[in-house]
Amino acid sequence: MKAELEKLIALQNLDTSIRKLEKELEAIPERRAVIEGEFDRRAFEIRALESRRDDARHSRSRLENEVTDQKGRAERAERNLMSSKKQDEYTAAIREADAARKQISALETQILEQMETLEQAEAALKERADEIATLNSDREARLKAFDEETKSQSELLAKQRNEREQVFANLPSSMSNMYARIRARIRDGVAVAEARNRSCTACFMSLRPQVMAEIRRGEDVITCDNCGRILYYVADSLQPDTAATQPNVAIT
Ligand SMILES: [Zn+2]
Repeated sequence: MKAELEKLIALQNLDTSIRKLEKELEAIPERRAVIEGEFDRRAFEIRALESRRDDARHSRSRLENEVTDQKGRAERAERNLMSSKKQDEYTAAIREADAARKQISALETQILEQMETLEQAEAALKERADEIATLNSDREARLKAFDEETKSQSELLAKQRNEREQVFANLPSSMSNMYARIRARIRDGVAVAEARNRSCTACFMSLRPQVMAEIRRGEDVITCDNCGRILYYVADSLQPDTAATQPNVAIT
């Protein structure tokens, strides 16, 4: 019986592992999308910085052209001022020169703002230069590693399914039927549970000392009264169960 219980435990371990692998493999599209999403986000941030830098550059040169225009306007006004013969011409030329100077001053403030934006964007891009240089190759490498990982996961799954079939086929049919029945009934698919601390580790129901003793002997298949799982006992694990039955001797 003990050998068969061990097979049941091995079967349970395989089924648990298979279930976990199946879940991970089912989630491949989502897991891949998370990686792609992360790289897309970074590429988007970089493109946003680049367009901020380019916009600032364009705005600066547009503003500089406007300054040139306004300087021309101011010079014309100065000339008109020199050549004015009438008071109203003189007043108009002074107003025109003033307006041009105010405009130039406003444009220069805007140029400074654009230069600040430009510097910030360039600094941020410089800081991320290494990342930018390798972003595409990093993305490819990351996805390649992911594909390799999932490939070996699916190979492992195939291997474990195979092993599982062998273990299952080698059990006496009464045990394999029992296992299949319990497994089908229980939501998490765990049909075999360890009995520890005088209770079932799956449902935490306390086990009577007599039941615990039977589980320890391992001569019959004992199931939990509460959850119906097959119970087993690991003798060498440090359990209060074991400790309690030993004399309380302090080693000095
Ligand atoms: Zn139980």
